[in-house]
Amino acid sequence: MHEPLYGTPRPHGPLLGPLSPPLLRSTTAGQPDAETLRALGAGERAGEFYQRLSHTNGRAFESLVAELEGADGAVAFASGMAAMSGALAAHLRAGDRVLLAEEIYGGTSGFALHDLVRFGVTVDRFSALQLDGLRAALARPAKLVVFESPINPTLRVVDVRAVVAMARAAGALTVFDGTFAPPPIQLALELGVDLVVHSATKFFGGHSDVLAGVVAGRHELLAPIEAWRRRTGAVLAPDPAWLLQRSWPTLRLRVEAQQAAALAIAEGLRADVAAGRLRAVSHPWLPDHPDRALARAQMHGGGCVVALELNGGLAGARAVFDRLHRIARAPSLGGIESLATLPAFTTHAALSPAQRAAAGIPDGLLRVAVGLEGADVLLADLRQALAAAT
Ligand code: PLP
Repeated sequence: MHEPLYGTPRPHGPLLGPLSPPLLRSTTAGQPDAETLRALGAGERAGEFYQRLSHTNGRAFESLVAELEGADGAVAFASGMAAMSGALAAHLRAGDRVLLAEEIYGGTSGFALHDLVRFGVTVDRFSALQLDGLRAALARPAKLVVFESPINPTLRVVDVRAVVAMARAAGALTVFDGTFAPPPIQLALELGVDLVVHSATKFFGGHSDVLAGVVAGRHELLAPIEAWRRRTGAVLAPDPAWLLQRSWPTLRLRVEAQQAAALAIAEGLRADVAAGRLRAVSHPWLPDHPDRALARAQMHGGGCVVALELNGGLAGARAVFDRLHRIARAPSLGGIESLATLPAFTTHAALSPAQRAAAGIPDGLLRVAVGLEGADVLLADLRQALAAAT
């Protein structure tokens, strides 16, 4: 096999020379001779050549992801959606069938239902929370099973090992969106999925200033994804790759602190539920979470997101949302700033209230992605907003 044009795990050596890696912006690089040009052009070796094919900062970021995920390698893209669409498209052809979880990021279902179907791929849905349906769907041939866990915004947890076992027995590959719970919270490849995709815009970037995506897995599955990236030009640029390198050493610290704060806030808000100031609070590590045991069997913590159900439905949620001071009213997650969103107005706006209710998403739901301000500060902000709204 040729040297891959994507990053692979690298042994750590002593830090010599500049401690901050150089940022190489040049889109092309002069080569010493025809043979070098031929080998680089044929993709037989990776080097500074033409940046759409591969570049040093991108490969360095990919190496870090590959090592963290325990993967053969990783392929980085310009966004999470470029990574997910690339992972799917590279492994599908006309006539193939995909099983897509109902409970999946809207961008992923949008790509599957608008674009994959135009190219002759059949997309069938299943509920990742009722796996009998998946078992039945797998009675007919399927190429890919696509799912995520925990689910946005309900924070229900899917039995990843069970989905993998069913798919594998039926000869289907699993593609898993790990964005909501990156390592060290959840190691999806260890749980058996074939490909894990991340919106690196979220925790990997961590500072709300990078748009990026990445796919990790085995070489034989990554090679067609890298070829797709080269042909479509969806590669991650050097500047965001450098920022991702810069964010990397603090990933574990950030995630662990955000996760601890999320749990402290969820635990704290239980008193407000008991006092009737709030209808419900959900976090996978709470004792009354419906998937608590499953979460503990496959995650190393309940993640960094808390879901609140406010009194008074959508009007009640709007009132609290509008009165937040410290928590920003903004979509996204995984950054150092805490963010709040109303799923009824954002991710699930296309559904009717009845459809949202059927999916377990009450209109009074407020999602809080916890940052690094500290649990006390955030709890105080939520409580003042609750008090001001009533
Ligand atoms: N997957 C999940 C779970 C997401 O939340 C998002 C973005 O919100 C994406 C994928 C898409 O990532 P990006 O916005 O980087 O394209």
